[in-house]
Amino acid sequence: MDMNIDALRGDTPGTANRVHLNNAGAALLSRRTLDTVTAHLELEAAIGGYEAARQEQERIDATYASLARLVGGRPEEVALFDNSTHAWNAAFYAMTFKPGDRILTGRDEYGSSVLAYFQVAQRTGAEIVVVPDDESGQLDTAALADLIDERTRLVGVTHVPTSGGLVNPAAEIGRITRAAGVPFLLDATQSVGQFPVDVAAIGCDLLTGTGRKFLRGPRGTGFLWVRHEALEYLDPYVCEIESAVWDGERGFTWRPGARRFETWEKSYADVLGLDTAVRQALDLGLDRIGERAVALGAYLRDRLDDLPGVTTHDLGAHRCAIVTAKVDGLPAPEVAAALARHGINVTTTVPEHTQFDTENRGVHPLVRLSPHYYNTETELDRTVEVMAGIARSAR
Ligand SMILES: *Cc1c(COP(=O)(O)O)cnc(C)c1O
Repeated sequence: MDMNIDALRGDTPGTANRVHLNNAGAALLSRRTLDTVTAHLELEAAIGGYEAARQEQERIDATYASLARLVGGRPEEVALFDNSTHAWNAAFYAMTFKPGDRILTGRDEYGSSVLAYFQVAQRTGAEIVVVPDDESGQLDTAALADLIDERTRLVGVTHVPTSGGLVNPAAEIGRITRAAGVPFLLDATQSVGQFPVDVAAIGCDLLTGTGRKFLRGPRGTGFLWVRHEALEYLDPYVCEIESAVWDGERGFTWRPGARRFETWEKSYADVLGLDTAVRQALDLGLDRIGERAVALGAYLRDRLDDLPGVTTHDLGAHRCAIVTAKVDGLPAPEVAAALARHGINVTTTVPEHTQFDTENRGVHPLVRLSPHYYNTETELDRTVEVMAGIARSAR
C-alpha cells in the first residue's frame, strides 16, 4: 500500500513553510507529536509536574515498549536519554579497558565517539584501531575479521554516518563480533527511523538512537538499547536514585534492566512526544518509510550528479536518504546559505565531526541534503533547479 503523502504533509506543519531537506539534522514534527508535547506541558502547568507524570504514567511507561518494538528488543532493554551522545556514553563508559586492549572502529565513526575513544585510550592505555574501508567505501568486513582478536574489547561502529549517504554492513559486522564474542556497539542515530533497524538481525549488543533526526521526535530525546546479556559486563558510571536502589546499609543494587543507565529527571513532555513519533513510524511501517526515503535520496543524488559543476560524495555499496554534494568554486556554507534564501533547509558536514573520514578523504565540508518520506519529487526538482543556478553563478 502506498503512503498518502498529501495527508502526511498535511499532518506536518513545517512542510507548508520550507523545503525541509535537513532530516539528518532534525526532522519536522508531526502535528500529533507536537500536540502530545504541548498537551503534556499544559497539563504540567495546570496540575503540577509530578502530578502530570503520575496521571500519564502508563503512557510514559509505554514509551519503552514502543522503542523496543522499533528496534526489535524488549522494553526492559531500553533506557531513555536526552540525546544519542549521552546514551552512547552510558554504554561506552560502562566498559572497562586496560593497557593493550583494543577498540575497533570504522572510518565513519561520529566525532564525539572518536573523542571518547581518545580520552579512554589516554586514561587506560587501550588502543584504537580504525578498520579500513573496502573499495565501495563501506567498512571492510574482511579486514575487520582479520583484525578482531583476543585483544579486542569492543567493536564500535556507526551504521549511517553523519557525513554522507553510506550504510555500513551492520549485520555482517554483527556476525563477525558474535563469532568472536566481542561486544558490538552500534551508533544507529541516523538509521533508526530512516529504515528498518533490527537488533536481532544485526546482532549488535548495544544500540543508540536519537529522537529528533529521522524518527521525527522532539529535540532533546534519545535512547539506548542494551542486550540483556550485556548487563553482566557493563558497570554503569552513574549511580543515582533512578539507576540504583539503596540496600538499607552502605551499599546499593542496580535497577533491573537497562534503566540502571538512566538518571531520575526527564522531560516527560518530550518522552511522550517521542513515543508518539515512534508509534507513527511503526504505524506507517519502517519498510515503507525506508523504501521511500532511500528512493528520494537516490533521486536527488542522481539529478545533482548530472548537473555541471556539482559532484556528490556518498560512499558505499548501499546508500540512504543522506546526500552530500559540492559545487565547484563555492564553499559549502555559501551553497547552504544560498539554498536557505530559496526556502530550502540543508546543512553542511563538519570536518571535525568525522575525524577519520576527514583524514581519509579531505572533502568536508560538504552540503548535506537529507530528504525524508514526507518530501516530494517536486520539492527535489526545485532544489536541483536552484542548485543548477547556484553552480552556474559560481562558474
Ligand atoms: C547526530 C549524531 C550523533 C549524536 O546524536 P545526538 O542526539 O546529537 O547526541 C551520533 N552519531 C551520529 C552518526 C549522528 O549523526
